[in-house]
Amino acid sequence: MKNNGVIIIGGGLAGLTAAIHLSKIGIDVTLVEKNDFPKHKVCGEYISNEVLPYLTWLDLDIEFLQPQAISKFIFATASGKAVSGELPLGGFGVSRYALDHFLHKKALTNKCQIIKDSVTSIDFSNDEFTVNLSEGGELKSKIVIGAFGKRSNVDQKLNREFIRKKSPWLAVKGHFKVEFPLELVGLYNFKGGYCGVSNVESNTVNICYLADYKTFKKYKNTSDYQKSILYQNPLLKTIFENATPLFEKPLTISQIAFDKKKCVENHILMIGDTAGLIHPLCGNGMAMAIHSAKIASELVSHYFSGQLDRKNLEQKYTDTWNQNFSSRLKTGRMLSKILQNKKLSEVIMQGLSVFPFLLPKIIRKTHGKTLTI
Ligand SMILES: Cc1cc2nc3c(=O)[nH]c(=O)nc-3n(C[C@H](O)[C@H](O)[C@H](O)COP(=O)(O)OP(=O)(O)OC[C@H]3O[C@@H](n4cnc5c(N)ncnc54)[C@H](O)[C@@H]3O)c2cc1C
Repeated sequence: MKNNGVIIIGGGLAGLTAAIHLSKIGIDVTLVEKNDFPKHKVCGEYISNEVLPYLTWLDLDIEFLQPQAISKFIFATASGKAVSGELPLGGFGVSRYALDHFLHKKALTNKCQIIKDSVTSIDFSNDEFTVNLSEGGELKSKIVIGAFGKRSNVDQKLNREFIRKKSPWLAVKGHFKVEFPLELVGLYNFKGGYCGVSNVESNTVNICYLADYKTFKKYKNTSDYQKSILYQNPLLKTIFENATPLFEKPLTISQIAFDKKKCVENHILMIGDTAGLIHPLCGNGMAMAIHSAKIASELVSHYFSGQLDRKNLEQKYTDTWNQNFSSRLKTGRMLSKILQNKKLSEVIMQGLSVFPFLLPKIIRKTHGKTLTI
């Protein structure tokens, strides 16, 4: 049995960011991640520049990964009608394979203890957590940060509300060789979903789409589905027909839920997708994961220095999380509903082609301000 400063469950972007932040300010960190590094993940891999100053503060030089700078967007309806423009803040494209691995190495350099195992349950009693691992281990700490992503066995164990409902969304992602403008991120609507296309490092193009299961289940495989549904968008058809896949088969995940979640449950501070998943069309989930890790780490340091007790820590985290993210998530849900309605999305596109200055305003509503330290 071990008494650790902070236990973090999950070593994705949120968990690793919190680990690097807390270890940088001298707090002991034990992080439990069930998978090996490096690993490809289903993600659009476009990150908003809002996180850059904070990553620099964490001593993470993203330029080392040779990311692709992205400054323009194109947005197309299912029929291929498109509007394009400059992104208000811009961003960069980098694979999760490279990014998560980079953060993992930094966490190790910062002397975080990283355990490869799966957390089976988390109990809280007498002001202390007990975290149980699938291989029989047990960890104890005063603070647990939940960074186990969109959907995990831990959600089931905690009986979280969203996990009891079925979700209609699945996602497919692959890396390709195809000519696609380097500085562009594209969002292409199709019946029952939308597809993001952008460059990452090494002249590789990431294509990732979110699809509704009702439309998808009629087809035997992703290839048939793409040809029958995604190809109805003429712009997507051209991209796919010229693309050479780099993965043996695409990565897929299902049961993606965008429902509201609580950001503190059973005294665990939830960060990243564990606290709430924004619709990927907003291209801001990774920035939110990093930002929420920053908020939690700062407040945890106040808890350890005696400025906050547990009750105030939880309240302050909930308030700050809501101030920063609630309205973005709401806008994401609203935009997704619009995209699912073919007629409405065509009308809105018509409007945007007449008033193109409105689009950056909508993008701003789903993004945050640059993170300052
Ligand atoms: C289709 C799609 C496209 C997207 N595109 C973009 C985009 O272009 N830009 C953007 O900013 N965001 C995008 N996002 C959102 C982004 O991927 C997420 O917001 C981000 O990955 C959240 O990071 P995280 O650390 O919270 O979760 P994750 O990266 O999922 O990490 C969670 C980790 O927890 C581990 N874990 C789970 N359970 C356990 C357990 N019991 N024990 C130990 N470890 C456990 C997992 O193995 C995993 O490594 C997209 C999302 C989807 C679904």
